[in-house]
Amino acid sequence: MKIVHIASEFAPIAKVGGLADVMLGLSRELIRQGHDVSVILPKYELLKKSALAFDEEPKEFQSYFDGKWYTNTAWIAPVEKSIPVTFIEAHHPENFFSGDCIYGAANDVDRFCYFCRAVIDYLANDPPDILHLHDWETATCALLLRQEEFRKKFAKTKVVLTIHNIAYQGHSDVMHLEKTGLTRKELEEIFEHIIVDKCVILKGGILAADFITTVSPTYAGEVLTHEGGKGLEATLRACSYKFCGVLNGIDTIFWDPGTDPYIDSHYCVDFQSIGYEFHQMIQKKQANKWALVEKFGLQKDPTKPLLTMISRLVFQKGIDLMKHILFETHKFHFQCILLGTSPDPQVHTHFVELSHQFAHHPDVRIILQQEEALAHKLYAASDMFLVPSIFEPCGLTQLIALRYGAIPIVRKTGGLADTVFDVDFSAKLFEERNGYVFDHANSEEMDAAVHRAVQCWTHDKRRWKQLVLHAMQCDHSWKRSAGEYVQIYERLCF
Ligand code: ADP
Repeated sequence: MKIVHIASEFAPIAKVGGLADVMLGLSRELIRQGHDVSVILPKYELLKKSALAFDEEPKEFQSYFDGKWYTNTAWIAPVEKSIPVTFIEAHHPENFFSGDCIYGAANDVDRFCYFCRAVIDYLANDPPDILHLHDWETATCALLLRQEEFRKKFAKTKVVLTIHNIAYQGHSDVMHLEKTGLTRKELEEIFEHIIVDKCVILKGGILAADFITTVSPTYAGEVLTHEGGKGLEATLRACSYKFCGVLNGIDTIFWDPGTDPYIDSHYCVDFQSIGYEFHQMIQKKQANKWALVEKFGLQKDPTKPLLTMISRLVFQKGIDLMKHILFETHKFHFQCILLGTSPDPQVHTHFVELSHQFAHHPDVRIILQQEEALAHKLYAASDMFLVPSIFEPCGLTQLIALRYGAIPIVRKTGGLADTVFDVDFSAKLFEERNGYVFDHANSEEMDAAVHRAVQCWTHDKRRWKQLVLHAMQCDHSWKRSAGEYVQIYERLCF
């Protein structure tokens, strides 16, 4: 089957969050399962930092935008050795993908509408079996395939749209979508009715796609509710016959404590097969902790576990709870490192002030950077990993933490509820329990979960050892979930 993914992120070369990891892991697994897979991304200026080996003969093609035709160049380069990614360079006077950002430009709707139309013009001569779109940024492709001209050219193509986070919807004026060549009449047919010239691009994608998925079964239920659907719940309920949740996985090559090039000391759950005992494996893991403790000038204290958080600093992630826990290290006897960045200048400034406040604290550090290498070092160094999200479509950080033997402490929501099972209270078999879970997003419940984790780490080493083993043995590779996507593709195509 020929599958083309259209996306705005790809790890590690163009990464803001989990979407980038998903694109890497899912496409690598689909290739491994024998499919013809390619990925198309904008050629962002920031890619220059990644020294990609572009094909020497790029292809030029024309695409339409706002009444004119523009030249584009399609560059192909393998990413992470084996995944063919096509990067579309737009020769448009507005330099849509210049600068240092993936999202957050004032003209984001125009940037991604231009990209979508260019993608469709590029693929028109060689349409795939499956066009898999990700989030509002690429959803306009589904709308374009409803146009008479493209409907004929893409007659055999089926469109799948995955919603990675329904909070981001792409609010647009009709005028912006018309720039792609869609007429008002066509837009009215797709959206059924348009109120005061406003369109929500993700909604159009949901209505126009052949199938829609989201990134965990629990979140698939949550987005159908008033609270979780962020205004799109009725649209999704009407489309429930073509909608389901497929749990995200992680790329087990990119995230592997046994070979990770970013970490100081390698270790793996198969320690017995290489002649180690559990305590030797833990010593190797701990070498990463001491390296980090030294790097950030924390007190080296073997009586305190290290709890970390790696996150975008936005409301969704529970920033008040993250902030709260930084002040609790003395009370519960642990150390804490937060790695994060915020797109909101006010939140950023607030955390800069906090980071100064803790600059010389023996147990706490706040690092306000987006740094892949440091994230890997932190997962390897951590004893515990906190995810206090208000809502969480899937969440990948808890899955990575599990693989690195850092015990997740999570709020029970979305994909966190599907992947972390409380060691004390879950109804699951003991072997399937892998972390600590609290129900409500408040500091009392979070503190209680952190306290239970610290108590177990400190006083019940045997139970902690079992927990670490359960965590590291969880299989969150893409194998099963990519298989679920293939079943969806096959049902659509045959
Ligand atoms: P989301 O996509 O909502 O941001 P996910 O949990 O799905 O959250 O994925 C987050 C991804 O981004 C993980 O790979 C995590 O390690 C990474 N990440 C988040 N913040 C940072 C940061 N400041 N530096 C490096 N990596 C980060």
